[in-house]
Amino acid sequence: MLKLYIAVPCYNEEEVLPDSAEKLRAKLNSMMTDGLITQDSRIVFIDDGSKDKTWQLITQLHESDSIFSGIKLSRNRGHQNALMCGLMTLRDEADAVISIDADLQDDIEVFDEMVRRCEDGCDVVYGVRSKRETDTFFKRFTAEGYYKLLDKMGAKVIFNHADFRLMSRRALRAFAEFRETNLFLRGMVPMVGYKSDIVTYERSERLAGESKYPLKKMLALAWEGITSLSTKPIKMITRLGLIIFLISLIMLIYTLIRYFTGATNTGWASLMVSIWAIGGLQMVAIGIIGEYIGKIYLEAKRRPRFIVEEYIHD
Ligand code: UDP
Ligand code: MG
Repeated sequence: MLKLYIAVPCYNEEEVLPDSAEKLRAKLNSMMTDGLITQDSRIVFIDDGSKDKTWQLITQLHESDSIFSGIKLSRNRGHQNALMCGLMTLRDEADAVISIDADLQDDIEVFDEMVRRCEDGCDVVYGVRSKRETDTFFKRFTAEGYYKLLDKMGAKVIFNHADFRLMSRRALRAFAEFRETNLFLRGMVPMVGYKSDIVTYERSERLAGESKYPLKKMLALAWEGITSLSTKPIKMITRLGLIIFLISLIMLIYTLIRYFTGATNTGWASLMVSIWAIGGLQMVAIGIIGEYIGKIYLEAKRRPRFIVEEYIHD
């Protein structure tokens, strides 16, 4: 039997938390009676510096039932950091930790299957969405395109898997060795190795409240994914530079021919266009290199990824 912990990052989730907590408790209780998990399994909410009553609700839940624990971050650090905090705080307490979003869009009914696969010797069990019917066309198109792009960039990610997964204690201990500050967990977990498996499920709508991932945060996460997992963009710049250099050689020959045929004044338009185009490309190139240097800067500082203010548990 496994001692299972559920890690739930929460940011301003007062609307959905009571409902989610009840559903999770019912699920864990039934898994306990089925003899799948031990009686001291827990549901741990990680409050990511919420501004609403989220932490208050978590303390109330903890007082009402010791199945609930809470970790309070000292301030808002974002979903990936909050989740990392949960996994790292719990890694020595539980035999396995399942991470899931507070809105329970991911199907809690596959917990059983995850636990079974874990007992069969898998150290990581990924939750994978079978289809994306509840998503808008835009979201589906961009999300699936993004997974393919990541793959092209050489980053190993599980297609249509987000942050719903089970990790064993062994996997979590290995994961603790990953000390980077710029986190894109779904790209880092596969690097741990060990035996893994997937379970598929259908993702539903948010139970209540609004998405805590507005487009801006989503784009930031997408960018983080590419630049944290791959250095291909820098290589692409080098290649682009070479191509432009080759083009300039052709242009040189062309210009010389024009010069000797005595028609040098007509090139003004093409000259203007190239100046703007190359200027723009150079700025983009410097910008991308700057992004990586910025990351090196942050990594070099070795700042803590999260600071726990309070951990309430039994
Ligand atoms: N979240 C967090 N910190 C943040 C933003 C989000 O811990 O700064 C949590 C949030 O409470 C939720 C999860 O990350 O549990 C995913 O957010 P959400 O469901 O809003 O994202 P979506 O499903 O819309 O992509
Ligand atoms: Mg959600």
